[in-house]
Amino acid sequence: MTKRFHIIICLCVYSFCSVCCVASEPKEEEYTRLRHEMVKNQIESRGIFHPRVLDALKTVPRHRFVPEKNRNLAYNDHPLPIGEDQTISQPYIVALMTEILNPDPDQTVLEIGTGSGYQAAILAQLYKQVYTIEIIESLGKRSQNLLAERGYRNVQVKIGDGYQGWKEHSPFDAIIVTCAPTHIPEPLKEQLAEGGKMIIPVGEAYDQRLVLLVKEKGKIREKEVIPVRFVPMMGENGKTY
Ligand code: SAH
Repeated sequence: MTKRFHIIICLCVYSFCSVCCVASEPKEEEYTRLRHEMVKNQIESRGIFHPRVLDALKTVPRHRFVPEKNRNLAYNDHPLPIGEDQTISQPYIVALMTEILNPDPDQTVLEIGTGSGYQAAILAQLYKQVYTIEIIESLGKRSQNLLAERGYRNVQVKIGDGYQGWKEHSPFDAIIVTCAPTHIPEPLKEQLAEGGKMIIPVGEAYDQRLVLLVKEKGKIREKEVIPVRFVPMMGENGKTY
């Protein structure tokens, strides 16, 4: 009888421990280790060397910007769902787009497509002021709260259609667009400062190019970077641009 009782107790303790081990989240130090590995293996190894960009990627806790059930995957080499059928970009694409802009701590940047708020947090480490626009209210509000909770005081989030830009705060030294229209929005070109840079995915679903635009003497120069795959830019009528 006592032996059977012992066996039952042991089984209970064993099951409890294994459930805890499987379900428990990695500790912050483990996430920090994964983040540093991500920068080394996915970012530096692909030729991103800008020291401030690498520092920002090592600092911002990407796992805090993805839904809890996906946290363990936050440092993997692929995009992740963030709800509302939207995704947070692959870390390398975030790094590449940020490096291309050559961020300056005295400048302002406009982001279109706040999504999870991760790219905005990276920009907040690198620019004096970040303006970011999200069309889906629930995502915009969540990111606004998360960014405020994490102490990013130089980020302003607006819910609205980023195709129109944010005229009151223009011109912007840099513009980064993280959803893909089929053409480059005219208001964004107008709101780019002299000498400013815009990085934007352009094209139809599944056939987009990342394009860099530079404004010099009022004229815009365009250069294709690489093929990419972003979610489409949507209008307030629910149609794609
Ligand atoms: N930069 C984000 C990735 C966002 S995915 C991050 O770091 O997580 C693209 C986002 O663009 C989605 O959240 C989508 O809702 C948003 N979006 C699509 N069309 C938009 C528009 N016209 N204006 C603003 N945001 C838009």
